[in-house]
Amino acid sequence: MTATPKTNLLALDRPDLERWFTERGEKAFRASQLMQWLYGRGVVDFAAMSNIGKALQAELSGWAEVRLPEVAADRLSDDGSRKWLFRLADGNCIETVFIPEEERGTLCVSSQVGCMLNCSFCSTARQGFNRNLSTGEIVAQLWMATQLLGRRPDAGRRISNVVMMGMGEPLLNYGNVVRAMHIMLDDFGYGLSKRRITLSTAGVVPAIRQLRADCDVSLAVSLHASSDALRDELVPLNRKYPIRELLDACREYAGEGRRRVTFEYVLLADVNDTDSHARALARCLEGVPAKVNLIPFNPFPQTRYRRSTDGRILRFFEILNRAGIVTITRRTRGDDIEAACGQLAGRFRDRTRRRERSQSVNQVL
Ligand code: SAH
Repeated sequence: MTATPKTNLLALDRPDLERWFTERGEKAFRASQLMQWLYGRGVVDFAAMSNIGKALQAELSGWAEVRLPEVAADRLSDDGSRKWLFRLADGNCIETVFIPEEERGTLCVSSQVGCMLNCSFCSTARQGFNRNLSTGEIVAQLWMATQLLGRRPDAGRRISNVVMMGMGEPLLNYGNVVRAMHIMLDDFGYGLSKRRITLSTAGVVPAIRQLRADCDVSLAVSLHASSDALRDELVPLNRKYPIRELLDACREYAGEGRRRVTFEYVLLADVNDTDSHARALARCLEGVPAKVNLIPFNPFPQTRYRRSTDGRILRFFEILNRAGIVTITRRTRGDDIEAACGQLAGRFRDRTRRRERSQSVNQVL
């Protein structure tokens, strides 16, 4: 007889964990107690959980475990960003990036090993798609980073914000990502507010609609073009969900409260960065509660794209600004350690070859 595999506690949100305890004849309140140890204090050793009796501690170690990745690499950028390569139980590796700022510390979390969307300017796409991350593997990135940063109390050195902007398309791993975000939001989990979690998507329209009902965190959309012809080329998912449908879903997401959706726009020299592109973008976003986040392109080996000049970026910014659109230019962080947007590559055990990958892209489309 094979033993039942142990439950990975990081994979359960509070309702799951309450059910898990009651199924074992224990009181539901054990769930919040256990979560406070795991997330509030970073304690994973059942024997150290002093408000849990010895008998239950022993049972817990028979039933459950906390599955954490190994640190395969830990790199610090000159600008203070820090990137970890985490090795998962199956040998696949994923990347997680911490970006300290004066007023906040942001953790950029991965949702998949690789990505199947094949955006032409993104280096993760080059790696192909391997698999979805489990809820536990998503939450473990936050757990590990919190420990590795040393639970510092000072603002900007601890994690105050999470962005689901690492490797992968979070809305194509919907259930696991939403459950992980519930743990991040829970008062007994990481206690983050909805404003402080941002999910970034290339535009999986039905999932954006669903997200509003399930977990309405801040939404960011990787737009990068305001015409379907150009966006089809940059973000192939656009062929399935074109700009109009995408913006309808964004308007709905913003809702009555008119909570702004952030539109990410990577500036690619001579591709999408001219004055007329800027004006077209402003027109395209009319009537959408929008903020625009301009991202200077981060090059990677063998890319055909180039970063726009500083002058171009400024001019693009000014046109949007003058059109009344709240715009920020994202400072490039961590590019000396390949931790900047679009540079996360991880390291996979079984890379899908190009041919297989194009099949997986076609499945999505
Ligand atoms: N799949 C999701 C999550 C990844 S987020 C999404 O598309 O939104 C990663 C962000 O970095 C996206 O806005 C993406 O478009 C941007 N990005 C990708 N490659 C980049 C590059 N080479 N330079 C700058 N930004 C890039």
